[in-house]
Amino acid sequence: MRKVEHIGIAVKNLEASISLFEKLLDTACYKIEKVESEKVTTGFFQKGETKIELLESSDKEGVIAKYIDKRGEGIHHIAFAVDDIESEMKRLKAAGFVLLNEKPTPGADNKLVCFLHPKNTNGVLIELCMEKS
Ligand code: ZN
Repeated sequence: MRKVEHIGIAVKNLEASISLFEKLLDTACYKIEKVESEKVTTGFFQKGETKIELLESSDKEGVIAKYIDKRGEGIHHIAFAVDDIESEMKRLKAAGFVLLNEKPTPGADNKLVCFLHPKNTNGVLIELCMEKS
Protein backbone atom coordinates (compact mmCIF):
# COMPACT_ATOMS: atom_id res chain seq x y z
CA MET A 1 0.00 0.00 0.00
CA ARG A 2 1.40 3.35 -1.00
CA LYS A 3 -0.52 6.02 0.91
CA VAL A 4 -3.92 7.07 2.12
CA GLU A 5 -5.60 7.91 -1.17
CA HIS A 6 -8.81 9.23 0.32
CA ILE A 7 -11.10 9.21 3.31
CA GLY A 8 -14.77 8.45 2.63
CA ILE A 9 -17.40 10.31 4.62
CA ALA A 10 -21.07 9.30 4.63
CA VAL A 11 -23.39 12.29 4.37
CA LYS A 12 -27.16 12.73 4.19
CA ASN A 13 -27.19 15.69 1.83
CA LEU A 14 -24.34 15.88 -0.66
CA GLU A 15 -25.10 19.41 -1.81
CA ALA A 16 -25.08 20.80 1.73
CA SER A 17 -21.96 18.84 2.64
CA ILE A 18 -20.11 20.02 -0.47
CA SER A 19 -20.69 23.65 0.55
CA LEU A 20 -19.61 22.80 4.09
CA PHE A 21 -16.39 21.11 2.97
CA GLU A 22 -15.64 23.85 0.45
CA LYS A 23 -15.68 26.28 3.38
CA LEU A 24 -13.78 23.93 5.67
CA LEU A 25 -11.02 23.05 3.20
CA ASP A 26 -11.03 26.33 1.26
CA THR A 27 -11.00 24.18 -1.89
CA ALA A 28 -13.63 23.60 -4.57
CA CYS A 29 -15.16 20.18 -5.08
CA TYR A 30 -13.51 18.99 -8.32
CA LYS A 31 -15.84 16.18 -9.25
CA ILE A 32 -19.35 14.89 -8.57
CA GLU A 33 -19.88 11.36 -9.78
CA LYS A 34 -22.67 8.82 -9.51
CA VAL A 35 -21.62 5.20 -9.00
CA GLU A 36 -24.68 3.20 -10.03
CA SER A 37 -23.34 -0.17 -8.86
CA GLU A 38 -22.83 1.17 -5.31
CA LYS A 39 -25.99 3.34 -5.29
CA VAL A 40 -24.04 6.42 -4.25
CA THR A 41 -23.29 9.89 -5.49
CA THR A 42 -19.80 11.05 -4.58
CA GLY A 43 -18.16 14.46 -4.31
CA PHE A 44 -14.36 14.76 -4.31
CA PHE A 45 -11.92 17.25 -2.82
CA GLN A 46 -8.18 17.19 -3.24
CA LYS A 47 -5.98 18.37 -0.39
CA GLY A 48 -2.29 17.73 -0.94
CA GLU A 49 -1.85 14.04 -1.80
CA THR A 50 -5.07 13.01 -0.11
CA LYS A 51 -8.68 13.33 -1.15
CA ILE A 52 -11.91 13.54 0.74
CA GLU A 53 -14.79 11.58 -0.80
CA LEU A 54 -18.28 12.56 0.34
CA LEU A 55 -20.83 9.80 -0.19
CA GLU A 56 -24.59 10.29 -0.39
CA SER A 57 -26.88 7.36 -0.99
CA SER A 58 -28.85 7.56 -4.21
CA ASP A 59 -31.25 4.86 -2.96
CA LYS A 60 -32.76 4.39 0.47
CA GLU A 61 -31.77 0.71 0.36
CA GLY A 62 -28.17 1.51 -0.54
CA VAL A 63 -25.20 0.71 1.71
CA ILE A 64 -24.62 4.37 2.63
CA ALA A 65 -28.30 4.85 3.56
CA LYS A 66 -28.12 1.76 5.76
CA TYR A 67 -24.85 2.92 7.31
CA ILE A 68 -26.32 6.33 8.21
CA ASP A 69 -29.47 4.70 9.64
CA LYS A 70 -27.31 2.59 11.94
CA ARG A 71 -24.40 4.86 12.82
CA GLY A 72 -25.23 8.34 11.60
CA GLU A 73 -23.11 10.50 9.35
CA GLY A 74 -19.33 10.31 9.63
CA ILE A 75 -16.18 8.58 8.48
CA HIS A 76 -17.20 5.56 6.43
CA HIS A 77 -13.92 4.20 5.07
CA ILE A 78 -10.22 4.80 4.56
CA ALA A 79 -8.84 4.08 1.09
CA PHE A 80 -5.25 3.12 0.36
CA ALA A 81 -3.67 3.47 -3.06
CA VAL A 82 -2.09 0.27 -4.37
CA ASP A 83 -0.03 -0.34 -7.49
CA ASP A 84 -1.32 -3.84 -8.18
CA ILE A 85 -4.73 -4.47 -6.69
CA GLU A 86 -4.90 -8.17 -7.58
CA SER A 87 -1.62 -9.02 -5.87
CA GLU A 88 -2.50 -6.88 -2.84
CA MET A 89 -5.85 -8.70 -2.58
CA LYS A 90 -4.02 -12.04 -2.71
CA ARG A 91 -1.54 -10.92 -0.07
CA LEU A 92 -4.27 -9.72 2.31
CA LYS A 93 -6.43 -12.79 1.78
CA ALA A 94 -3.45 -15.01 2.60
CA ALA A 95 -2.85 -12.91 5.74
CA GLY A 96 -6.38 -13.73 6.94
CA PHE A 97 -8.32 -10.63 5.96
CA VAL A 98 -11.78 -11.03 4.49
CA LEU A 99 -12.37 -9.41 1.11
CA LEU A 100 -15.86 -8.07 0.47
CA ASN A 101 -15.45 -8.63 -3.24
CA GLU A 102 -13.53 -11.41 -4.92
CA LYS A 103 -12.62 -9.31 -7.94
CA PRO A 104 -11.70 -5.63 -8.21
CA THR A 105 -14.81 -3.61 -9.07
CA PRO A 106 -15.13 -0.22 -10.77
CA GLY A 107 -15.30 2.59 -8.22
CA ALA A 108 -15.58 6.37 -8.42
CA ASP A 109 -12.80 8.60 -9.73
CA ASN A 110 -11.49 6.17 -12.37
CA LYS A 111 -10.50 3.46 -9.88
CA LEU A 112 -10.66 -0.26 -9.45
CA VAL A 113 -11.52 -0.99 -5.84
CA CYS A 114 -11.86 -3.76 -3.27
CA PHE A 115 -13.13 -3.50 0.31
CA LEU A 116 -11.98 -5.46 3.37
CA HIS A 117 -14.46 -6.63 5.97
CA PRO A 118 -14.25 -4.34 9.02
CA LYS A 119 -14.58 -7.27 11.44
CA ASN A 120 -10.87 -8.04 10.87
CA THR A 121 -9.66 -4.42 10.80
CA ASN A 122 -10.68 -3.01 14.18
CA GLY A 123 -14.05 -1.95 12.82
CA VAL A 124 -12.58 0.22 10.06
CA LEU A 125 -13.80 -0.36 6.53
CA ILE A 126 -10.68 -0.39 4.33
CA GLU A 127 -10.74 0.22 0.60
CA LEU A 128 -7.92 -0.66 -1.76
CA CYS A 129 -7.89 1.42 -4.90
CA MET A 130 -5.85 1.41 -8.05
CA GLU A 131 -5.93 3.97 -10.83
CA LYS A 132 -7.45 2.44 -13.98
CA SER A 133 -4.96 2.54 -16.80
ZN1 ZN B 1 -13.75 5.42 -1.39
